[in-house]
Amino acid sequence: MEQLTIHECHRRLTAKEISAVELTNAVWAQKEKTEPQIHAYLSDSYETALAAAEAVDADIARGEPISPLAGVPGAIKDNMCMAGQPVTAASRMLEHFVAPYDATVIAKLKASGLVSLGKLNMDEFAMGSSTENSAFGPTRNPWHTDHVPGGSSGGSAAAVAAGSALWTLGSDTGGSIRQPAAYCGVVGLKPTYGRVSRYGLLAFSSSLDQIGPLTRDVRDCALVMNAISGHDPKDSTSIPGEVPDYTRALVADVKGLKIGVPEEFFGAGISAPVKDAVQAALRFYEEQGATLVPVSLPRAKYAIAAYYIIAPAEASSNLARYDGVSYGMRAAADNLIAMYKKTRSEGFGAEVKRRIMLGTYVLSAGYYDAYYLKALKVRTLIKEDFTRAFAQVDVMITPTVPDTAFRFGEKIDNPLAMYMEDVCTVPVNLAGIPAISIPCGIAAGLPVGMQIIGPNLSEETLLRAAYTFETAHPEYTRMPSQEAMG
Ligand code: GLN
Repeated sequence: MEQLTIHECHRRLTAKEISAVELTNAVWAQKEKTEPQIHAYLSDSYETALAAAEAVDADIARGEPISPLAGVPGAIKDNMCMAGQPVTAASRMLEHFVAPYDATVIAKLKASGLVSLGKLNMDEFAMGSSTENSAFGPTRNPWHTDHVPGGSSGGSAAAVAAGSALWTLGSDTGGSIRQPAAYCGVVGLKPTYGRVSRYGLLAFSSSLDQIGPLTRDVRDCALVMNAISGHDPKDSTSIPGEVPDYTRALVADVKGLKIGVPEEFFGAGISAPVKDAVQAALRFYEEQGATLVPVSLPRAKYAIAAYYIIAPAEASSNLARYDGVSYGMRAAADNLIAMYKKTRSEGFGAEVKRRIMLGTYVLSAGYYDAYYLKALKVRTLIKEDFTRAFAQVDVMITPTVPDTAFRFGEKIDNPLAMYMEDVCTVPVNLAGIPAISIPCGIAAGLPVGMQIIGPNLSEETLLRAAYTFETAHPEYTRMPSQEAMG
């Protein structure tokens, strides 16, 4: 049962072939089996999950209709608030903090019969690309446990790959849903900025953060999007208006679709197996009647530089609240200033401190114009590059990440190498547009991901393009072997 998709679970639940309690126990058992090796979870909520599953079974027994996600066990990245559950952002700072309320996505999921098995590991405060920055130990890649699962939503991607959750939520500020999805061979969508409410998401970089699904297949991605999308008065950046039924976009047909191929994303730095797999996918689309159009994003090469000014600037402001007074840990000290210092020195890990220092620096008087303001201007230029390209094409296709999952320790001492992990994904966040990563190959036993990018609110087109590829390539939807997971 741990291999099932959401839609297959729903079919079996409504046909009364299985019960939600059985399903929950089966996925829980898989979690118990894989966690010693994978460590995707930071906390468990078995009792709550079981009670929710029983409620779904009672609905089914009464003949009431249930929503597509009802009773299908998932799990949530540990930077989203779920009332009464821990929410740590994988930081010592929030080690013993319990969420006082539900994030909007959680409230919506609860209304859809949420069964959540627990909270998932991540890089501390979502800063990183490998989960090696978690204060509570890394998550391992279920395809090869010597390799990282990606990050920062590494727990969310690894859990789906390992079958220790059938779907998960992640968050993406510069690539944190798509990069781990690519490394773990699952589907990950970063929605249009504002499509999904950020209320109750622990803020990293508020102008970039966006919550999205990680799932086994594209249909499941559409189903989770249906459940979590929509306007929220509690998030002032949330987009007003109706949300389409994303499952209606699941048509295997790309005839006439214009696919942009940005030359900048296929050049030096992209590994041969990744380039080969994505180019093979492009040929597939062409055979299906899509047109490939060479496009250029000339300013995308400045995206990483701009991102590592804007994101730390916003983070330094957002993380100022963790001072030992209102939230989380408080170190003992003789006076207030000493307490602030000690709390923040002991509570934050090295990468988070690096970002706070960078951010404080680029916002300080004298440097604000030279760095922060300039980065904002670069961001506008990158947005313009996308707008110009999308005047010619419907979507663009690129690798999600330049290579397959790297080994533990390979990049942790080289922040710049780690930052380059997001070279293909960060421009998308700066532009605020949506992008999906889907598995498109396997190289030396590790999954390869392809990214499909679209203009604002083009999620339906992305899902259709992704679905068309997936339908013709079921071999990439498979799970890693139990042996690989150790
Ligand atoms: N890896 C990038 C960073 O460290 C992106 C993280 C994210 O999307 N949350 O900032």
